[in-house]
Amino acid sequence: MHTGDEVFITKTGKNYHYFDDDCPTTSRILKGRIAAQRIKETEAIAKGYTLCRHCAKEYKEDLAERKGCGTAALLFLGAGIILLAKQLLF
Ligand SMILES: [Zn+2]
Repeated sequence: MHTGDEVFITKTGKNYHYFDDDCPTTSRILKGRIAAQRIKETEAIAKGYTLCRHCAKEYKEDLAERKGCGTAALLFLGAGIILLAKQLLF
């Protein structure tokens, strides 16, 4: 999950990471195995860091999931209206 606009950067890496332990690097950072610094995402980009591919993948999946939930809610609402219409008609 991608929350806030702060990201992790490590001393050696060229990538920045979201606070999501689905990323192996973030997971290690959260467990205290890698020293990391929190900075603004915009600042990380300005410093030449690029988004880690694990984090990028998770972020895309999160967006897709949210989209999926919206569609499911609409379908549910549609089904509810049909049921209500049937009850009124019969
Ligand atoms: Zn990452």
